[in-house]
Amino acid sequence: MSSTVSRISADLDFSRDGKHRSYLRVPVSTNLSAYGTVSIPITMVKHGRGPTILVTGGVHGDEYEGPIALSKMAGALEPEMVRGTILRVPALNLPAALAGTRLSPIDGLNLNRVFPGEPNGSITSMIAHYVSTVLIPMADIVVDIHSGGMTLDYLPTIIMHEQNDADWNRRTRAALLAFGAPIALISRELDNATYLDTIAENMGKITLSAELGGGGRLSSYTLEIAETGLVSLLRHFDIIEGSIVERNATKRKTRLLQTPHRECYVVAHETGVYVPFFDLGDEVKEGQVMGEIHFLQYCDRMPVPVTAKRTGLLLAKRPLANVSIGDCIGIIAWDL
Ligand SMILES: [Zn+2]
Repeated sequence: MSSTVSRISADLDFSRDGKHRSYLRVPVSTNLSAYGTVSIPITMVKHGRGPTILVTGGVHGDEYEGPIALSKMAGALEPEMVRGTILRVPALNLPAALAGTRLSPIDGLNLNRVFPGEPNGSITSMIAHYVSTVLIPMADIVVDIHSGGMTLDYLPTIIMHEQNDADWNRRTRAALLAFGAPIALISRELDNATYLDTIAENMGKITLSAELGGGGRLSSYTLEIAETGLVSLLRHFDIIEGSIVERNATKRKTRLLQTPHRECYVVAHETGVYVPFFDLGDEVKEGQVMGEIHFLQYCDRMPVPVTAKRTGLLLAKRPLANVSIGDCIGIIAWDL
C-alpha cells in the first residue's frame, strides 16, 4: 500500500515561537546527486496567539513580485512585532524560479496545475502535496502572489473567488480590499480544479491570489504594490500593528471588477503575429475589433480581426506578438 505521508522534510517545529529559517527538502535523485534534495527556503515568524497566514510566491518561476517582496519581508519582521504566525515560502517552485521559467525544468510540470499533488509523484507534485497536506491546513489565511509571467501582462490585481458561503465571502472581500491593489477582481477561473487557491478555498481558508504585472519583468511599481499589500493584510488581520498602508505610487482607490464569463478570456483562433489595437487599461466594446492576426507565410492572405465578445476594461494582454491557436491574448473585465 502506498503512503500518503509527504516525503518532504522541513527541520522546522511549527509549534515553537520565534523567527525560524529552514528549507523544505524535496528528495530528487539525479545523475549528479544520488541522494540529493532540492532545498526550498521557508521562514516562519511566530509569537503568541493569533491567526496563521501562509504567503507563497514563485509558484511560476517567471513571476517575480512574490519572491522578492517575500524575501525582503523575511528580514524585516521580528517575533515581538507579531501576534500569530507568518509562514512565507518566497519561491515555492524553486527549480522553476532559478530557471526563470513557468514550468519546472526538472519534470516539466506547472505547479499550479497539479494540486493537490501526490506524495510519491515527481518533484512538482510532491511540493503541491506538501502544501496541500501540511502548510495550508495550518493556515487561516492563504495568499498566493503571481504575475502574468512571460505570456501575460496584468494591471496589478488582487483576486478572490466567491463561494456559496456569505460569511466567507464577506470576510474574504474585506481582505481583498485591504490589500489595496489598483484592481480587485472577483474572478471565475477557466479551469481551476488543480490550483493552489482552490485547495485552500475548499478547506474554508480565507484565500487571495494576485496577478501583479507580468511579461517576465519586475518593476518598482508592482513590487511596491506587493510589499504594501502584504503589510496591509497583516495589519488587517491584526497580525502586526498599524493601519492599512497608503501607497505612495498611485494613491488611487481600488477598482472592483469581475470576470464572470468564459468570454472574458479572448483567445487566438489563428496562428500568426498579433497586432493589438488597445493597451492595458483601455475600455473595449462588445463587437469592437481588438486587434488582428497577420500571416507572414502567405503573399495574399488578409489579416484576421480579433473581436471583443464583451464590453469592459482590458485587464490583461499578451505581451508577445507571436500567437498560436488557443493562446489567451487578452482578458476583459467589467465593474462589479
Ligand atoms: Zn502564475
